[in-house]
Amino acid sequence: MIRSIAESVSKNKEWLTELDMAIGDGDHGINLARGFDKAIEKFSTIKYEFPAEVFKDVAMMLMSVVGGSSGPLYGSFFVKMAMRFRGSEDISPKMFGEALSDGVYGVMSLGKASCGDKTMLDALMPACEICKSILAEEGDIVCALKKALDAAVIGAESTIPLIAKKGRASFIGDRSIGHKDPGAASSVIIIEAMLKSFSGTDLKK
Ligand code: ADP
Ligand code: MG
Repeated sequence: MIRSIAESVSKNKEWLTELDMAIGDGDHGINLARGFDKAIEKFSTIKYEFPAEVFKDVAMMLMSVVGGSSGPLYGSFFVKMAMRFRGSEDISPKMFGEALSDGVYGVMSLGKASCGDKTMLDALMPACEICKSILAEEGDIVCALKKALDAAVIGAESTIPLIAKKGRASFIGDRSIGHKDPGAASSVIIIEAMLKSFSGTDLKK
């Protein structure tokens, strides 16, 4: 899953950076890609026993390597996922859904943003919540992530007419109107990559 995310972020880094150039400082895609690439590099040096260790390392790498706001924010997302996975050798779909939701709360508690503030949360929160509720009722993980992706896409589109209330984009006030939030766009990419990593596998637990 993390390899799939790293690959998708890397493919989309120029686009993410362009979005960030319009309402921020133009570093989002480049920085995020560097963080995931460094995590993948580390994978080749370590033999992981538990999924939690993988997610914790990704979180630490994002926090230390990705500059700007999104490093610590996505770092909190993955650290909360890691905490939910702690001690488990296998991750059930239900636990995965709970971890996604924990991740959103990690982002919220660090960044103090809510939906409608034109941030990554506008895509991430509806996506993770729908995924969690489908998986809580024993839904199929691929279906759940497809619904999550639909919600993320709608959430990211919804940021276009908004005025940014948090982060660097809030400094430009009304001039943030008419632009998609780069963090919401990267959240769509992350959810889509999660889906891709499951597609083709049968995980109907
Ligand atoms: P910076 O703005 O510091 O350069 P990035 O460019 O890496 O950071 O990331 C910008 C993205 O971070 C924004 O598009 C937004 O989605 C997200 N972001 C910024 N501040 C917050 C916050 N307080 N809560 C949630 N997301 C935020
Ligand atoms: Mg930036």
